[in-house]
Amino acid sequence: MTPRTLGSTGLSVSPIAFGGSPLGGVFGAVSIDECIRSVHRALDSGINLIDTSPYYANKRAESVLGLAIEGIPRDRFILSTKAGRITATKFDFSPRAMTASLEESLVRLKTDYVDIFIAHDIEFENDLARVKDETIAAMLDLKRAGKCRFIGVSGYPVELLADFAATCPIDLVLSYCHMTLLDQTLVSGLLPAIESKRLGLINASALAMGLLTMQGPPAWHPAPAAIKQATDQAREHCRKRGMDIAKLALQFTLSDARIPTTLVGMSTAAEVESNLEAAAEPIDESLLAEVQAILAPVVNSGWPSGNWPAPGA
Ligand code: NAD
Repeated sequence: MTPRTLGSTGLSVSPIAFGGSPLGGVFGAVSIDECIRSVHRALDSGINLIDTSPYYANKRAESVLGLAIEGIPRDRFILSTKAGRITATKFDFSPRAMTASLEESLVRLKTDYVDIFIAHDIEFENDLARVKDETIAAMLDLKRAGKCRFIGVSGYPVELLADFAATCPIDLVLSYCHMTLLDQTLVSGLLPAIESKRLGLINASALAMGLLTMQGPPAWHPAPAAIKQATDQAREHCRKRGMDIAKLALQFTLSDARIPTTLVGMSTAAEVESNLEAAAEPIDESLLAEVQAILAPVVNSGWPSGNWPAPGA
């Protein structure tokens, strides 16, 4: 995997990055030992960006990651965490909460700084002007204090991320579920804003948070029934053909060279192996066309998230 540059940060990131939310068990129970093995396998294979958040399994994912990276030289990996999202329904993007959250994350992650600090799921905040002003200012203070090297925002609506990219003094944006077999709206909705300011782009959830896997999505998945039915059908089609839809989905996302890095949620060494193998193999074009035809009725349809779309939009 040839590393790619993340916008103007100067960071050199692996095309596949380690999504740390499954380390907390949000996609199903997994032992701490297996989680640690998965992180070590990833780092040994050249995956160098690891993302987490205190939100994932109520801080457990961060604590497990802290155990996994303990003792590993800090310059061997790029570490990203977030703040502002506390639970599924509780958010606090105030300067005080952002600062306290990062300090607590550093303790759990057993480090003095993170490379990337992200305001987590901004579309849930009612007062976005305050996020642009006070939250970003607090994050810039943390950057100046050396607690993080680069700052950014994450969320689901690409239009909102594009607006923050265009108007805020941030280094990067994290977008999820918008560059997959199911949805490619990142390309028209966000990429132009990223490219015009030479910002970093972290793409996440190539497997659409489990929709594009053979085991299917977790119970909490926000997609509407029509998308779940279409992905059930696509999954069944792959099963009949003896193929793995996760492999096809990952290969599809990785094929776009404009995207520097894609976070894939992993918590077992077998998943790491399987995803690295997928990245090294050519995509099956005939299977791709068949799956795209099945998903066509729902492609780019997505789901609402937080306050988005805004009433009347
Ligand atoms: P994903 O699309 O990466 O899917 C993760 C699921 O796929 C998990 O169940 C995992 O066990 C499974 N999986 C991984 N490799 C597999 C394989 N080879 N075969 C079968 N199953 C496989 O979804 P995600 O984990 O939600 O997204 C990736 C990461 O991006 C997250 O872990 C998180 O770090 C980040 N993220 C951030 C935000 C945000 O900031 N708002 C939102 C979503 C994701």
